[in-house]
This record gives sequence, structure tokens and C-alpha cells, in this order.
Amino acid sequence: MTAFTHHLNRLPVMFCLKLLPFCIAGLVNPAVAEEMTTHGSHVHGEAALTFVLDGNEAELALVTAAGNILGFEHKAATPEEQQQQKTQLEMLQSGRWFSADTAANCTVAGQEVRIEQDDHGHADLYANIQLLCQAPLKLQNLQFGLFELASGLTTIKAQYLVDGVAGAQELSATSPALKLR
Ligand SMILES: [Zn+2]
Repeated sequence: MTAFTHHLNRLPVMFCLKLLPFCIAGLVNPAVAEEMTTHGSHVHGEAALTFVLDGNEAELALVTAAGNILGFEHKAATPEEQQQQKTQLEMLQSGRWFSADTAANCTVAGQEVRIEQDDHGHADLYANIQLLCQAPLKLQNLQFGLFELASGLTTIKAQYLVDGVAGAQELSATSPALKLR
């Protein structure tokens, strides 16, 4: 994927914070918005991520095939699977699957993680993290340690909107840094 940048009016940003994945995808590329709202068509190995920073508030939204994170997609059946699921959901809730530049002084202000099972043996995993950053102008990069914590994950297709400037980048274990500025 080639990187691209649009300059956007400030107006839609707060609106975007509420409707994050759809809004940012829609602003950048209507085809991507379509893909992200279509259920049951997830790609094993891939995750979609959106990141929005507005003032000192930020939100990350990750959507991925549950198997990429859990190692399985059926309902956890054995004690080992239940433990594995619990460990991985707690990891996502903690926000330690990514790191922001220390100088930006960001802390996790809220989170929501959930699994949605379909009728065909597949499941999607959603992780939303809200951040509060004391020095948001110093936020240059987000590093994704998630590749080391989720063995089934090979690619994160990331889109961002930082103070009205949007862009996109594809991340992998060898290229885990999302450059925001
Ligand atoms: Zn699946």
C-alpha cells in the first residue's frame, strides 16, 4: 500500500471520534469503509486498525479475526482454551499491545474488548482503547508489540487521522511502527 495524505477540515474530527472505523475509512476511501462494515469476510492473519488523535484525546480501534489473537475461533471449550482467551483479552484491555512515544505522556483512559461469533465457525475480535495524552504534539509514532503477543497476526492495515491529517500504512512484525507525523 502506498502512503497517502489528505488535509481535512477540522469539522469532521469530533464526529469521527464517535464513529471511528466507518468515518475514517469513509473519509479516506469509500471502498475500505464498505469492506470494514461487511461481516463475515475477515482475512486470517490480518487486522484493521484506526487511530484518531484530536487535541489530547486519542482512540485506537482494532478489528481482527479472533483466531489471529486467540489461536482459535470456536467458542473456548477446554480449560486451556478458556485460559488462553482470558490471557489474550486481558492483554488487549491493558493496552500493552502498542506503545506511544514516552514524551507524549499517554495513559489508557478507557477500553472495550469483545468477541463476536458468527454461525460459520468464525469470530471477530474488537478492541477499542481510549488514550489521554498530556503532550499530544510529541506523539510521533505508535509501536505495535502485538505481533509478538499474537502469533497468528501477520499484517495490520492501519489508518490514522491526526489533528485533521489522514494517512494509511501497512504494518508487520518487521515494520511495527505507525508513523503519525
Ligand atoms: Zn475466521
